[in-house]
Amino acid sequence: MKRYKERRLWNEAIESMPKDKLRELQWKRLKRQLRYDYENSIHYRRKFKEAAITPRDIQSFEDFQTLPLMDKNEHRQIQLESMERFGHPYGLITCAPLEKIVRISSTSGTTGIPTLYTLTRHDVNVVNEMHARKYWRAGLRPGHVVLQALSLSMFTGGLPLSDGLQAMGLCCVPVGVEGGSKRVLDFALLTKPDAIIATPSFGEYLIEKCPDILGKSAAELGLKWFFCAGESGAGIPSMRERLQDGFGARVFDHTGGSHAFHGISCEGEGYRGMHFVSADHCILELIDPDIRKPIAMEDGAIGEMVFTFIGWEGGPFLRYAYGDILQVFTKPCDCGLPGMRFKIIGRSDDMLIVKGVNVYPSALKDAVGRFYPRTTGAVRILLDRPGPLVRPPLKLRVEHGRGLGEDQRQILRREMKAYMRDHLRVSPEIELVPPDSIRRETQKTQMIEIQEKRDS
Ligand SMILES: [Zn+2]
Repeated sequence: MKRYKERRLWNEAIESMPKDKLRELQWKRLKRQLRYDYENSIHYRRKFKEAAITPRDIQSFEDFQTLPLMDKNEHRQIQLESMERFGHPYGLITCAPLEKIVRISSTSGTTGIPTLYTLTRHDVNVVNEMHARKYWRAGLRPGHVVLQALSLSMFTGGLPLSDGLQAMGLCCVPVGVEGGSKRVLDFALLTKPDAIIATPSFGEYLIEKCPDILGKSAAELGLKWFFCAGESGAGIPSMRERLQDGFGARVFDHTGGSHAFHGISCEGEGYRGMHFVSADHCILELIDPDIRKPIAMEDGAIGEMVFTFIGWEGGPFLRYAYGDILQVFTKPCDCGLPGMRFKIIGRSDDMLIVKGVNVYPSALKDAVGRFYPRTTGAVRILLDRPGPLVRPPLKLRVEHGRGLGEDQRQILRREMKAYMRDHLRVSPEIELVPPDSIRRETQKTQMIEIQEKRDS
């Protein structure tokens, strides 16, 4: 028997399960879950009624895909309805009795009412298991110290994540981003963490501030891992390089809060996306974001993510269209680790449409990052009114790198335009500005700036 320290995967039996066995397990759990959702949730029973079926009628995956989708707006609506009927927002999709709910989690709630997740002890254990699978793949082992520098409020990556780190035997220092960069750096010095979890833009900011605050470079902190959360860092070559060099650390992208959709990137030549590690508790589908019909999960397919939780008690999501646009990769990965992979391309609600072409801000950021170090990677999209429809040309403000003469800037502008035309089918107007003139954020970077229209 292998000792746990030698295991390549946290849960070998599940994570390296052959595809057909995994599908069998998913199907068994899905059927059980559908019955459970139908019997215990007023809202889901309505959804079945809408499709004129009962769980008994669902005999195939295609049958399952006839169930209507649900999205965040609908989720907010039923929370409001529940407030009216029961005096609390959980009454319509939470399936477990409220006394079994041990955690309420929430999205960051930047727009309107936050959507709330309800978890039982069982669900919390599932989430903790998924965190363990991710960090184990990256090489973290009990005894390692992790500085948790995300938001510690209700945001699903806050304290729930700290809980998961502790559950797998890691030592978590939940310093949080709220205290600011000085506090995070002071604690890095005091607690000597092996790894840090932060947004990549906050990571960049720490690299910049560290010499002033501690009198030494971030690379001297001794961090061996940087885990990017909230936005892609490892997936953007310039960003990965800056974090790698700045901290002297291995850089991973990972995703997954207090729900059942979790993934982590792998290492090696090029970026291959994140390995999906929670297939035994989450069924993933892709739909076309415009016509909202299923897209086949073939290698390279792009679509809006729809997930269904299986083996879940509290507030299980059923065909929930989350708004993230994914590209999936079903062929085995060169790294040798199991699991389908995905890249998060953007969000359906920040998608812009320029002359009929769908453009994702993160794809523009990625394109600009490819020209590092001739650009710093910082970019803003300037709109004269909120999207998605953009009156062409699309205007971008991009920071050029240090020491670039006028001639080199001309060439850079031309090359970036050509790259975006060829790869993103958009021809933007690019304004180049000196390094450090675009404001850095410590939370998720807001890439779009709505500018007052100035008529001259
Ligand atoms: Zn891989």
